[in-house]
Amino acid sequence: MIKGIRGFKDILPEETPAWSWLESRARELLLRYGFSEVRLPILERTELFARSIGEATDIVEKEMYTFVDRSGESLTLRPEATAGMVRAFIEHGLHVRPRPLRLFTIGPMFRHERPQKGRLRQFHQVDVEVFGEASAGVDAELVALALEILSAGGARDLRLEINSLGCPECRKPYRDELRKFLLARRDRLCEDCQRRAERNPLRALDCKKESCQAEFREAPGLSSFLCEDCREHYQAFREYLREAGIRFEENIRLVRGLDYYTRTIFEIKAPGLGAQDTVAAGGRYDGLVSALGGPETPAVGFAIGMERWLLTARPPQDLRPAPELFIAPLGEEALRRALWLALHLRRKGLRVETDYGGRSLKALLRQADRLGARMVLILGEEELRSGRAILKDLSSGFQQVLPFSDLRDLSNRILIEILF
Ligand code: ATP
Ligand code: MG
Repeated sequence: MIKGIRGFKDILPEETPAWSWLESRARELLLRYGFSEVRLPILERTELFARSIGEATDIVEKEMYTFVDRSGESLTLRPEATAGMVRAFIEHGLHVRPRPLRLFTIGPMFRHERPQKGRLRQFHQVDVEVFGEASAGVDAELVALALEILSAGGARDLRLEINSLGCPECRKPYRDELRKFLLARRDRLCEDCQRRAERNPLRALDCKKESCQAEFREAPGLSSFLCEDCREHYQAFREYLREAGIRFEENIRLVRGLDYYTRTIFEIKAPGLGAQDTVAAGGRYDGLVSALGGPETPAVGFAIGMERWLLTARPPQDLRPAPELFIAPLGEEALRRALWLALHLRRKGLRVETDYGGRSLKALLRQADRLGARMVLILGEEELRSGRAILKDLSSGFQQVLPFSDLRDLSNRILIEILF
């Protein structure tokens, strides 16, 4: 037997109702906030990710699914959606549309990481981006939206962590300072962080190893390095959050796994998820659109990890309603009628299932029961001869004989009237 790939999960029939339900919650709120949906390809040129996420990031260094296609081009399964969104924004000249432009997309992302609870190799994100607005008001609005979406799915006790990464100007002296700090305790850091200290010191702060995190407790934060503009922007962001009654924690060592972020960054954590407790994360990336060849465009966004959101979700119980009617045909003639009748009643809006013949009445009743059907319509040979069928309520056991001429008019309302 050929098995699926490690870290690539099948989402089975009993799981999909919760997925669809969550996606609907997200879409509903996103539309209310003025967002439009886009659907983007899953494959992009490798270069797009190398240039946007950053060469010296975990994602680009070791997590991407990259291959050379038959025409010799290096392609990559998208590890995240922002890069593709920015590419599409530039390619289709979306900067001429009214600003800010609010876009979202929902779909699978791919990263070659170690699979564990809340961490897969194919996972899914709700990705949300706003182009063309520099105000910290949008940052706060997006944080509010992320919290609203997560809560609408049933998540509780969410924790918001925020920080500012400043701009390239103020980050430079900070990076030098942090590099000094890291190099001073080089021997106690993991191999990755030793390398990061040289190449991309900020990335070290995102290391998942406890031993490294312990070393970073005294690490300098960026806040004291922020330039005036960045400091004001961060100040405004926090004021907007307070104004909206949104509680937050400042984490001066919060960084993100992608290089394109500037100024605002945030993560939303949920209790009970173990080590992978960040459900949503995002931030501002004012330099990315121009870095990828587009016009100077401030932008900010976030992504919700669907799998982790699902772990916090509380979908309603009855997402996949049972059939209202099960038609139990006995014999060939009855089967022909059953198929026709099922089609007809479904057109009227009734949830109907039937059987395709060859089973005993006992087996059919058992099946109807297993499906949770409310009513069974028995079409037996005897009934066919007399032009009648038996309608039976499975929970009360109450039953009634109906002439065929009445069957065509069965609808949910009439079913109820007949039996009660
Ligand atoms: P982490 O620190 O957990 O690796 P990240 O910083 O790499 O997360 P982002 O790139 O910011 O994650 O992606 C945003 C969200 O997507 C995460 O908060 C998480 O919910 C989800 N996510 C990221 N990687 C995975 C994965 N491998 N499997 C499942 N969900 C993921
Ligand atoms: Mg990661």
